[in-house]
Amino acid sequence: MVNIKPVRLRFAPSPNGYLHLGHAYSALVNKHIARILKGELVLRMENIDTTRCKTHYENAIVEDLSWLGVDFRKPFRRQSEHFSDYQKALDELEKLGLVYPAFLTRGEVKEIIAEAERKGKNWPRDPDGTPLYPTDERSLSKSKAREMIAEGVPYSWRLNMDLALRFSGNDLYWYEFHGNQTKKVIAHPELWGDVIIARKDMPTSYHLSVVVDDALQHITHVVRGNDLFQATSVHRLLQTILGYEPPLYYHHPLVLGHDGHKLSKSNKDTSLRSLREKGLTANDIFALLPKI
Ligand code: GLU
Repeated sequence: MVNIKPVRLRFAPSPNGYLHLGHAYSALVNKHIARILKGELVLRMENIDTTRCKTHYENAIVEDLSWLGVDFRKPFRRQSEHFSDYQKALDELEKLGLVYPAFLTRGEVKEIIAEAERKGKNWPRDPDGTPLYPTDERSLSKSKAREMIAEGVPYSWRLNMDLALRFSGNDLYWYEFHGNQTKKVIAHPELWGDVIIARKDMPTSYHLSVVVDDALQHITHVVRGNDLFQATSVHRLLQTILGYEPPLYYHHPLVLGHDGHKLSKSNKDTSLRSLREKGLTANDIFALLPKI
């Protein structure tokens, strides 16, 4: 018997500011594709950063999206209510020996990189342009790490990329869909180095929670901005290690500002809220966005 999974998409904003035109476009593309595929679109609040994410932004997101004509079933998933799910996945990675506690402060990382560059080394950078995390702590003994943890030295969990790739095998890829076409994309998680799996103050990170949530919420199609195209490599690696079935992906073009840069939540001019307050209607917003 063929097992056809119900189509499910998600729109996953972080409630750390008001939605802007780029989010509006992403939500509308999600809604459009969900309708074509006769699937469901769910909302997920990506609020693991409980200091920057605020309830009033969350309420504003729901209200702005509804004003735009994008409504969601309630209750929706809030990442802050599911830390135990992420903890389980982190425990699994730890049991496999694929993560290690990372104690370096930002300043120490900077210093290590500066020192290497002084010696003429070209320090590698990830696809977003951030220098890779130094890998020296991979070899820190378990007893030393335990000692530092007991002393209260703050630490995060990082993936040992080499071991992770050995565990998953190098044959990593995903399918990018657009209309009726699908295209195989080879994943390159190695470009990201020892990515962060759990931040200092929480049992998770963006990469881990997004992968766990997409699996637990049975997401079949991930539709999100092109700025996350490269991060998909890390997601495919984690899905493979954790035994999750991969969704299909569509990374849509970004809506750029007049200056050609990505829109930012800190720029009031393009927030849906301020456009709405200026008297624009949902139809005016559609007119401002690229054709779907
Ligand atoms: N929360 C992310 C953002 O607001 C989106 C994550 C995703 O779609 O995978 O950019």
